[in-house]
Amino acid sequence: MSDSEFDIIKKYFSFKNVRDDVNLAGGDDCAIVTVPEGKQLLVTSDTLIEGVHFPSNTSAEDIAYKAIMVNLSDLAAMGATPAWLSLAITLPDVNESWLLDFSKQLKAVISEFNLCLIGGDTTKGPLSITIQALGLSDADTIMRRDKAEPGDKIFVTGELGDAAIGLEAVLNNIENESLQPCIEKLNRPLARVKFAEELSLYSKCAIDISDGLVSDLGHIIKASHCGAAVNLSDIPLSSGALYYFEHYNENKVDWSKVLTQGDDYELCFVANKIHQKEIDALAKKHQLRVSCIGETTNTDTVALFENGQKIDFERTGFKHF
Ligand code: ADP
Ligand code: MG
Repeated sequence: MSDSEFDIIKKYFSFKNVRDDVNLAGGDDCAIVTVPEGKQLLVTSDTLIEGVHFPSNTSAEDIAYKAIMVNLSDLAAMGATPAWLSLAITLPDVNESWLLDFSKQLKAVISEFNLCLIGGDTTKGPLSITIQALGLSDADTIMRRDKAEPGDKIFVTGELGDAAIGLEAVLNNIENESLQPCIEKLNRPLARVKFAEELSLYSKCAIDISDGLVSDLGHIIKASHCGAAVNLSDIPLSSGALYYFEHYNENKVDWSKVLTQGDDYELCFVANKIHQKEIDALAKKHQLRVSCIGETTNTDTVALFENGQKIDFERTGFKHF
């Protein structure tokens, strides 16, 4: 690695550490952390590539924010508390103002979630950001995809489809105040970390919606060997989404946009109905909309119902290949 790359790391990717479980962060071949006794270590990583995961005109701040948040969302999906990050970044050139913006936003999220950037890799090439996030959890409160049981209730947090609508607005240069929250949702998804930590007391099974509900709920039922029945009328839509469908889709909800396009980073979780009260209380505490959208069944498919009628739904989530 050249001197200038070490300068980049020192200038933009070295933050003051506030965590006392970090023994060595940066400067050596590996980082060293202490996993507290009795805790499980959960590890995830996600890559954002320019032109694939974000349009080329996305700001450095939005890229930094989302690169961390999609990883925190994976940890939230299992009920883990995020602790440490590493960052592998590929840059086409050394653009000081871009790096400064990226670094500032990285630092802000790291501080907000009490994280530590413990290391990474810096290379030259087409813009790509890979973050690995490590989190901690008690063994008995981890939410897994294979823990749903027939007859459980299926819930989602927040609203679905906003990011897909936001992307549509960005790609087509639609400038409309009412769609701004959807663009915000696309660029600044907030991982449901705090909610999920507590949710793991009442739910054994969750996933974050990155590829669209149909596909992601599909992962749950496949892993859990059950089915799902979802009522379209219970799918939560934001006022931005309703505005979009009213004005740009002949006042008809485009369910493929809402259910298959992804990038929502909301949680879909499954819980026994005896926990409904606790889940409602948790939603209230975290000021988070939580909607029951259906239940798990004895079949092996995700069935969608509209006015009590089963509807045909071909497309599943976004696939890279
Ligand atoms: P090595 O060649 O031993 O793999 P590098 O020269 O790539 O190490 O990196 C030097 C140090 O800087 C390492 O401790 C590494 O973790 C850290 N580092 C490199 N890139 C980043 C980055 N983008 N963010 C944070 N730390 C980084
Ligand atoms: Mg080395």
